[in-house]
Amino acid sequence: MTTENVIIVGGGQAGVQAAVTLRELGFAGAIRLFCAEGYLPYQRPPLSKTYLKEDSPPEKMYLRPDKFFAEKSIDCHVGVKVAAIDRVARNVTTATGEEFAYDHLVLATGVINRRLPAPGADLDGVVMLRGLDDAHHMRPRIRAARHIVIIGGGVIGLEVAALSRSMGIEADVVELGDRLAGRIGSVALSDYFLRHHQALGARIHLKAGVTEIEGRDGKVVAAHLSGGQRIETDLVLVCIGVMPDMALAEAAGLDVKDGILVDEHARTSDQAVLAAGDCTRFKPAHGTLASIRLESVQNAIDQAKCAAETIVGKPRPYTSLPWFWSDQGTLKLQIAGLTAGHDRTISKADPVKDAATIYCFFEGRLIGVECVNRPADFMAARRVLGAGKVVRVDDVEKDSFELKSFM
Ligand code: NAP
Repeated sequence: MTTENVIIVGGGQAGVQAAVTLRELGFAGAIRLFCAEGYLPYQRPPLSKTYLKEDSPPEKMYLRPDKFFAEKSIDCHVGVKVAAIDRVARNVTTATGEEFAYDHLVLATGVINRRLPAPGADLDGVVMLRGLDDAHHMRPRIRAARHIVIIGGGVIGLEVAALSRSMGIEADVVELGDRLAGRIGSVALSDYFLRHHQALGARIHLKAGVTEIEGRDGKVVAAHLSGGQRIETDLVLVCIGVMPDMALAEAAGLDVKDGILVDEHARTSDQAVLAAGDCTRFKPAHGTLASIRLESVQNAIDQAKCAAETIVGKPRPYTSLPWFWSDQGTLKLQIAGLTAGHDRTISKADPVKDAATIYCFFEGRLIGVECVNRPADFMAARRVLGAGKVVRVDDVEKDSFELKSFM
């Protein structure tokens, strides 16, 4: 029986998946999972959607119940922050000074929110959204709000814009770029989002920033836009993207570059240290980019599985097809593959059903598919792209084209 110790830093989707897969693979040593937030591992996607509207308790968000960790002998250190790694002694030290030894260390530290460099960003009524505590802070404020200014037209911004409109709250979305969700999708997708959110009644300000948030008696009363406009509001959500949380890795001398650098087996520059999820940068097996950081549940799960497989001596390269989803009111976006770097798109839309499939190509070959309210196309795309099938522009241009015929 192994007496090896695994320490996992970070109780998000990647951290918990690494622990679960280790046990599934028969790893019999000790597993310690450090969750710095005061909760057992929980799902984040609902936090920018229904969770703000409902009265659900945090336990409803838990990825696994309390008893699961006891049954699997996974020792969850809830509310405990790891403060340092000693790679020579192979141990970690917590913020309270306790030391724990490891044979294998998995860093699943996730991301941290970018902060708005504008006066007034610390006023009451200026909120951010990442964890359960943020959602609990925001919940009463959004329920009481008549108007919200959302800074950042990315996934969180658009999900909260749709939610706000469904709650009867006036919404202004302020996006620095010239289109919505420019980081995640094609121009055709951004146009779709623009029409959808305008139809829901949100006001969208592109190529605009917020220069100042005005307060009275410590509370937000207005946001000033770069073009000079003053928007009265009682709530401001800052959701302008994230940065990898790599402070621990960097201090420990691991190779980092806008992410903890890992190979296809989730190994960092130290063979005893692995990393998985949003905090990593790696060479993807799909798409056009030489290296990538993927902020998605799929990546957290699949890369963490690879990390566990490496630890138990059954390394399998990370080749899973990336996929992603976002719910924005009645709009369900699902993306299969990595569309970044595409040089051509073909859109097949059905305005009556408010649905569209956008095929993204690079040098004539399909690399990703963006589906709006088209779950069947998404499933077909995952299977076709995941199997490495070649689909070309000419194929998609045909009236008779059906992606599923390539399965
Ligand atoms: P995001 O998707 O990166 O979007 C942030 C947007 O804000 C970008 O378009 C960015 O433009 C813009 N921006 C940056 N600085 C700005 C400024 N000063 N003023 C106005 N706009 C500015 O990030 P996010 O919406 O904050 O989401 C954070 C993370 O949560 C991401 O990792 C995301 O994947 C994850 N998330 C995922 C889901 C899902 O899977 N459904 C849902 C919610 C959140 P530039 O690109 O030009 O910087």
